[in-house]
Parts: sequence; C-alpha cells; structure tokens
Amino acid sequence: MAQSNIEWTEMTWNPVTGCTKISAGCKFCYAEVMAKRLHAMGVEKYKDEFKVRIHPDALNIPYTWKRQKVVFVNSMSDLFHAQVPPDFIKEVFRVMNENPQHIFQVLTKRADRLLEIHQEVKWTHNIWMGVSIEDERVIERLELLKQTNARTKFLSCEPLIGPLPDLDLTNIDWVIVGGESGWKARPMDAGWALDIMDQCKQAGVAFFFKQWGGTNKKKTGRLLNGKIYDEMPEFRIEEL
Ligand code: SF4
Repeated sequence: MAQSNIEWTEMTWNPVTGCTKISAGCKFCYAEVMAKRLHAMGVEKYKDEFKVRIHPDALNIPYTWKRQKVVFVNSMSDLFHAQVPPDFIKEVFRVMNENPQHIFQVLTKRADRLLEIHQEVKWTHNIWMGVSIEDERVIERLELLKQTNARTKFLSCEPLIGPLPDLDLTNIDWVIVGGESGWKARPMDAGWALDIMDQCKQAGVAFFFKQWGGTNKKKTGRLLNGKIYDEMPEFRIEEL
C-alpha cells in the first residue's frame, strides 16, 4: 500500500504485480518502468521485475487502514490478466467486500476476462470498475464493461492517443481523460479531450481531466478550457 500521486485516487494497493502489454496504450507502461526501478533497488516484491506475481500477504492490508480510503487496486498490474488465477481474483473481491468503508477503483484492459468472471464475484457498492480506452481500436471494452454487474462503472481514456467521437455513455458513471507523459509521449489533441468532455456533459456523466502530459507534465498542467475538471461519481459513505 502506498500514497499515490495519481490525481483521481488517494492510494494504491497491489495484491498483484507484473503484466504484459496488450494494446497501444501500454506502449510506455509506467508500471513496467517502476517495477524495473524497484527491482534494481532490491525491493523483494519486485524480485521478478514485471512478471505477473500474486501476493497473498497483501490481502490483509485493507483491514489495517483506520480511516476511509479511496484506493486504486493494482496500479502495478492488471487484476484480470490471464495469469492471475480466478481464485485469487475472487479473494481480492472478498477483501473489497469485507471492507465496505473503503472505495476500491479497479481498472483493466482485459474487459473480456472481466466479463467472464463477473458473475462469480460480489459487486458491493464500494467497488468502482473501469476499463482503459486509449483510442477507438479498443472501444469494445466499453460494451463489455456495461454487461457486468459492477454498480459504478468508469472509463479511463489515458493515455488518450486518438479521438473517441462516438462514446455511448449509457450506464457509465465517470470518465477520466489524460494525455501521455514522458519524453516520448504521444501528443493528445485538445479537440479529442474537449469532445469527450462534451459527450460527458450531454450524458450527465462525471468528467475528470487528469493532465495534458507531455515531456513536462507539471508545466502543461491540468487546465482544460481554463478550468480544472475534478468530478467524481456520486456516492454517499452511508451507502457503502
Ligand atoms: S495493461 Fe496496464 S499494467 Fe499491463 S502492460 Fe498495459 S499499461 Fe502496463
């Protein structure tokens, strides 16, 4: 468990580490870079660098948090990766179910496997389920997400590397947009981000603009049309 610099969450929890690339959005995977760095620093959890590994000892961690948290699950992996055993995925859900005071944000690019397993897990109110959609080539993830029983559903359009003009946001609660950062970052067209913002407005969906990205993300900042967009899905603690 670690404090996070990711603007739309509070902290990360990684019961799985490691992954393999699956689509264009993975090209400059931040988790891979971090895993290699942590391996070089001798961190035990990353002794196998970016190979997929489950960490049963990490399952206890959410029980130790005293105050309510907003938690990004598996920032260093993809919970629905083919190499994560179904029983372990169910264990992760059990932990989330047993900690309803915390919000768990689960994000995947493996929407097909998510759909395969979604009926075998319990979708409590505190689990927000998202898919990454970086361009139109992976738009089918949106329809797969909609077929799940997750109560709160979101899209992460980051790194946004192409336009997404035809999002059907029916039953979607939240959309995050962000540009890629890093020295080889692929540029995000302002029109793509503004178009998604408009689609969210029309559909009544919460919109979060994370960053422009680029080679110096501090400099490019978070303003879109001169404003910060920090909307989150509606939830009330007593409902969790
Ligand atoms: S799915 Fe996510 S963690 Fe896995 S390689 Fe792609 S960007 Fe990295």
